[in-house]
Order: sequence, then C-alpha cells, then structure tokens
Amino acid sequence: MEHSIGSKKGPQAAATMARYECAPGIWEIDEFDCASVFLVIGGERALLVDTGVGIGDLRWVVEDILGGAPYEVVATHSHGDHIGGAAWFDPIWIHPADSDWRRGSALPTLDFRREYAALIRSREGKEYAYDPEKDIRPWPRDPVFRTLQDGRVFDLGGRRVSVIHCPGHTPGEIVLADDRTKTLLCGDACNCNWLLSQELGPDLKSRAKAALQALHRLTALEGSVYAADRVINSHHDYRFAGQPLAPEVLPDLVSCLESILSGSARLEKAPDPLSPDGAFRTIARFGRVMVGGIDP
Ligand SMILES: [Zn+2]
Repeated sequence: MEHSIGSKKGPQAAATMARYECAPGIWEIDEFDCASVFLVIGGERALLVDTGVGIGDLRWVVEDILGGAPYEVVATHSHGDHIGGAAWFDPIWIHPADSDWRRGSALPTLDFRREYAALIRSREGKEYAYDPEKDIRPWPRDPVFRTLQDGRVFDLGGRRVSVIHCPGHTPGEIVLADDRTKTLLCGDACNCNWLLSQELGPDLKSRAKAALQALHRLTALEGSVYAADRVINSHHDYRFAGQPLAPEVLPDLVSCLESILSGSARLEKAPDPLSPDGAFRTIARFGRVMVGGIDP
C-alpha cells in the first residue's frame, strides 16, 4: 500500500494516542476512549488486532512502535469501531460470518465514524487532541478483507496467536489467544456491558444458547497453553487502560447467559449508555455483567 495514505510525520492526533504495554510484547493503543486496538509483537513479525474508528493516523502509531517490523492485521469483528480504520492498512483478516457486507454487516460510513466518536466525547465529557473534521477522514479506498477460520495460528516468531471463533456479540466474532502470555484478546466477545447479536437465532434462547456454546470454549481452555491469565476486551470503560478485565467477568457472562437460557433471568429496563437520546433497553444482569440485545 502506498505510503501517501499514512504519514511518516506522525500527525498530532496520532502522537497523542495513549499506549500501554499490558503484557510483555502486547500493546494497547487507546483510540481516544472509542476503542482500543492491540499490537502483539513476536520475534519475527507482529499482529495488529483491530483498527478502531479510524481517528488520526493509527498506522503511524503502529509503525512507530514496530520500528519497521512486518505485521499483519486482523479484525475481531465487523463493527465500525473495530474496522473504521481498515482502509489505511493492507488486507485485514476477518471471519467469514462477519464479512458478508451485503447481509447487514454494513461497512461503516464516515457519518457513523464521526457520530460514534461524538457520542464517546459526549459520554466522557472530555476534550481530545483531535479535530473530528480533519482527523476522521473519508477512507482513501475500500478496505480489502481476507477471511480466516477458527483454529488459524499466527506464528509471530517465539509466540503463537490462535484464532477462536466466538459468536455471540456478532456471528463472526473472534478471540485471539496468545500462548506466550496466556492473554485472550477478546474484542467485544466478553465485556461487563455486553450485547447479544440478534443475528444468532430466531429467538432469545436460541441466541443465548449459541453464545454460551462459544464462551464455553474459552472457559474450557483452563489447563491448556492458552489458559487465560488475563482477558482483555476492546473497550476500557469497565477496566483500567492497559489492565485486564476482572477475573469474574467471563464466568459472570456465562452465568448470565445460562440464566437467560433457563428462563430464571430477571429482565429489566436500564439506560443505554450508547444511546444519544437516553433511551432505555432491556437487559439481564449477573454479578458484574449486564447483557443487552434482548427483545423488549
Ligand atoms: Zn462490537
């Protein structure tokens, strides 16, 4: 890809993106509270996990950390706060269940990217060192995607990162498991404020069942080289930046989905933290977790 798309000068906005080494050789890059992207660095190459909303020049940040090392790019899922910067990178790996752009997985528009960033600015009540007009730019071209399957391994040299298909938040969500630090980079597959995809089945129970089957694969990793010492998701609003989720979050999410499946979950209305007009939504709670995406 030609370098005119990115910039070697490091535009101001990109230079202010906070970076945290959250485990040896794993960097969290905080895209102005909108989303975090992760860089896993091996002895020979690196893997960039997600591309954020596409604010400023993320590519410059990544290449500044890597200092010329080669890297590949993978998307945990197709939501616009994870592939919004995809057009500035070389081909992006994604699961096929999230790559059918004609079937509702619409590519994020410039309006979506700007509106999402505005929502986060308003939610956080902060000033950020970027200009929404100048730094959230139209894509220079359509992104190029390549599909991958469950079980694919990215051999980075001295560390192997495996793909675990984990449908729930989207049909094609994947989790990346690093064997060196026993870290699960889970995108939006596990979170304290979690959304169940309506695309997983015709009714709530069938969706919860499909999501549970996938999450049980993560909890079954115990005892394997991928047994998770840390689970890190793509939004740090329920954890400190650079730190993992509390260890109870994944088991609480499993218990919450089990309670939906068994019919014992108490459904309630709660304010939607991502609604611009303060709308309420139906949720189920368990421990530290609330699950949304439930039919009203
Ligand atoms: Zn998402």
